[in-house]
Parts: sequence; structure tokens; C-alpha cells
Amino acid sequence: MKKIALFPGSFDPLTMGHLDTIERGAKLFDELFIGVFVNTNKKSLFSAEEKKQLVEKAVAHLPNVSVVSQETELTVKTAARLEARFLLRGIRSVKDYEYERDIMEMNHHLDSELETVFLIAKPEYSHISSSLIKEVLLFGGDVQKYLPENVYKVILKKREKNEE
Ligand code: ADP
Repeated sequence: MKKIALFPGSFDPLTMGHLDTIERGAKLFDELFIGVFVNTNKKSLFSAEEKKQLVEKAVAHLPNVSVVSQETELTVKTAARLEARFLLRGIRSVKDYEYERDIMEMNHHLDSELETVFLIAKPEYSHISSSLIKEVLLFGGDVQKYLPENVYKVILKKREKNEE
């Protein structure tokens, strides 16, 4: 049976840490969907459509990866619709572990067939988050090495626009 996974996240914006997880996940599964979701706890910089386009461009080199965006549906519902039996998530730290375990348990309660697979972040990316990058950017810091090239370009343009 084909192994299909869904990697849900806010991706606001997609970072090199996310991209590394996606590239590693693409080797584990036959098909990997990236679910660009809205995190109701976080204020977003990009719209869902902008984020989807950015992720699509950054994963264009991975033939078994595609992107879906979903604003209102439960992750487990999206997974069922896509026939994905696996969720992929990343863990950077003990803090992530506790948060991710809660989400995993809730998703398991909602759909007991769904298995969550975790990939531990590479040390070079384990200290970065979309929120931290946004904060550094706001004050003019250099975060180029933490962002895929296309994301970095768009973010710079957005910053210039805001400064006008
Ligand atoms: P969410 O709002 O759902 O947490 P994020 O876009 O912040 O969405 O993160 C999506 C997933 O990617 C989460 O599992 C998170 O732990 C993981 N992740 C975030 N940053 C990194 C990173 N630098 N390296 C590896 N995984 C990461």
C-alpha cells in the first residue's frame, strides 16, 4: 500500500528547518502533502495563498511532494480526504516534544488510525522558528541562511514595502 503523509503547519514563513524536514520526509513516504494551515494562536505575516505559493516554489525539486491549503478543516479530516495515514511533524527541543505530544494524542483521539511520525531537527536548524525569524527581520537582522531563497526574496520585498 502506498505510504501517504501530511505535514501540517503554519509555515509563516517556511524556513530551512521546515524544508529539511520536508526533504527527509519525501524520502520516507511515497507521497507527501504539505498542509498550509492557519494557526489561530499566531498572527500571520503571509496570507494562506501567499504561503502556499512560497512553499510550492521551494519544494518544486521534490516530485512526490505537493501543497494543499486549508483554513477551517481539522487536520485529521484533511488527512482522511488525502488518504494520508501518516502525519509528519518536526521536533526541535523538549518544549516542542511536550506540545507535539499533546497534538499527537488529540489527533489520535480524533482518528485512531492516523500515525504521527516525528523527525528531530538538525542541530543547525533546531534554534530557529518562523516567529523568531520574523522578529529578527523586523529589526533589520540578517536571516538569509535560515530561509529558502525564494522565501527570502519575497520577505525582503515585503519589508521594503512596509518601510516606504
Ligand atoms: P505550527 O503552528 O503548526 O506549530 P509551524 O510552521 O510553526 O506550525 O511548524 C510546523 C512543524 O514544523 C512543527 O512540527 C514544528 O515543530 C516543525 N518545525 C518548526 N521549525 C522547525 C525547524 N527549525 N526544524 C525542524 N522542524 C521545525
